[in-house]
Amino acid sequence: MDRFDRNIRFFGKDGQEMLRQSHLVIIGGGGLGQHVIQQAAFAGVGEITVIDDEELSRSNLNRYILARHDDPIPGTPKVEIAKRAIASIDPSIKVNTVYASIRSAEAFSALRDGGVLVGCLDNDGARLVLTEYALAYRKPYFDLASDISIEGGLCYGGRVLFTGTEPGCPICLGEIDLEQARRDLENDASRKDREALYGVPKGLLDEGGPSVVSINGVVASLAVTELIAYITGIRNPQRFINYRGDLARVMCNKDAAPPCYFCETVKGAGASAGVERYIQHDVATINAVSLSSRG
Ligand SMILES: [Zn+2]
Repeated sequence: MDRFDRNIRFFGKDGQEMLRQSHLVIIGGGGLGQHVIQQAAFAGVGEITVIDDEELSRSNLNRYILARHDDPIPGTPKVEIAKRAIASIDPSIKVNTVYASIRSAEAFSALRDGGVLVGCLDNDGARLVLTEYALAYRKPYFDLASDISIEGGLCYGGRVLFTGTEPGCPICLGEIDLEQARRDLENDASRKDREALYGVPKGLLDEGGPSVVSINGVVASLAVTELIAYITGIRNPQRFINYRGDLARVMCNKDAAPPCYFCETVKGAGASAGVERYIQHDVATINAVSLSSRG
């Protein structure tokens, strides 16, 4: 019996074939990304590219479902964990790994080659780069985020946002802090200058915040279910799904997107949107990017 028999009973042979023909680019092979990678492999996606420039660390081991207790630390790139896991689930899946930052020529080349982008990121700078890329080149892009905040009352959960081809993006939907994104994207020299003037912003102090396996799992499962619906054509993906674990609720935001520079000007602009300016060929030129002038 076909290993996908139980899938086929849901979305048909044609749907399974569309998954087999699909190429996902997963940006971020961490706590969220590993759930997505595992589920995409089980679902029967034919080609998976994983972009990540980090190695496994001790504090990842509470939630990295594809890591093993004896993976060397340091010395285990997250992309290698992804590659091993996919091969162990289904060796017929084509796997590509990019062990580099999203702001590299290699990563941009992988984005261009992929069919659907899935962002599993924990910083708004990288999220902004990917959002602009997806809009400029009209690539379907699922943007995932999970969050646990303790201050000001316990609130935890996450969200899945679908953009690139549909109205609305993470910026007009209020899901990217542009000020934070600008700080994430600045080079070391300007960061030092700014911190000397204004101090270290709270956002940066929070980098090692709480993160728990089950919350990442819910967010990733919501996203992969939308992804399967999209690729197999069962239905259009929801634009914005909000998971509130503290309320045990999953909600859908269908409000009309407000007017947005990124949706209206960057979208469909292709190379003239200039997203490639984010590639770090020469670190000193990166701060030529001025987000504040973009309205
Ligand atoms: Zn927008």
